[in-house]
Amino acid sequence: MRKALVAGNWKMHGRIEQNQLLVETLVAQLTDLADAIDIVICPPLVYLDQVGKMLNPDVIQLGAQDVSRFGQDGAHTGDCSAAMLADLGVRYVLVGHSERRSDYAENDQCIATKLAQVLSAGLTPILCVGETLEQREAQQVEQVIASQLIEALEGLDSHAVSSLVLAYEPVWAIGTGKTATPEQAQAVHAFIRETLASRYGQPLADRMIILYGGSVKAANAEQLFGQADIDGGLIGGAALVSEEFTAICRAAANSTIDG
Ligand code: PEP
Repeated sequence: MRKALVAGNWKMHGRIEQNQLLVETLVAQLTDLADAIDIVICPPLVYLDQVGKMLNPDVIQLGAQDVSRFGQDGAHTGDCSAAMLADLGVRYVLVGHSERRSDYAENDQCIATKLAQVLSAGLTPILCVGETLEQREAQQVEQVIASQLIEALEGLDSHAVSSLVLAYEPVWAIGTGKTATPEQAQAVHAFIRETLASRYGQPLADRMIILYGGSVKAANAEQLFGQADIDGGLIGGAALVSEEFTAICRAAANSTIDG
């Protein structure tokens, strides 16, 4: 059985005092879920050290929102390597988030390079894929998702692929308050699993964790996580509100129990 995972992406939010309060509350409220699900929080780079020191990795693990596409050290002003993230205790790294794709024109080749960097540092990438509204309206969802996946995974062997987490995040649902219906999300998750099965075999595809992201909140988490191929969530706005994030984590734990 796949273990559910909930990852909170704080994006460019937080201040030292506010982080302290949020993380203290989350650690206290989520301790009993330690065995049931994996929980990750991804604060901004400058707060990784602060947040990392407050976390108990048996309960909540540290994630980063981005990584340099270059190697361990070098003349890359402003960049932070995967090795540096590992040094701080980071375990997961978001790669290919749609905001990086649009704000920084990160293409699939850049994303593939970042994936390789994260893997070579022994960290787990959370690879995000998703279509825009225009692509959905043009009935190109499967074509877009397959191409994002295939290009990003180019050059990785099955062992490397099996160590990734995937996140389906329809761009039109991120930060918009519009959520894919459970059926829409399930259809794409099933397609992602089929695509993986056709390239790497069914056993590997069956083991892969595929998260849904896009305006997940306490009110819709249970229905989304109840779908057969949805193994948890990548949470933006709701990850900043302790009651919301806690309720989402509980919904993921319940979906594991319910099967
Ligand atoms: C995200 O940041 O990946 C995300 C899904 O954001 P939100 O939950 O705010 O839509």
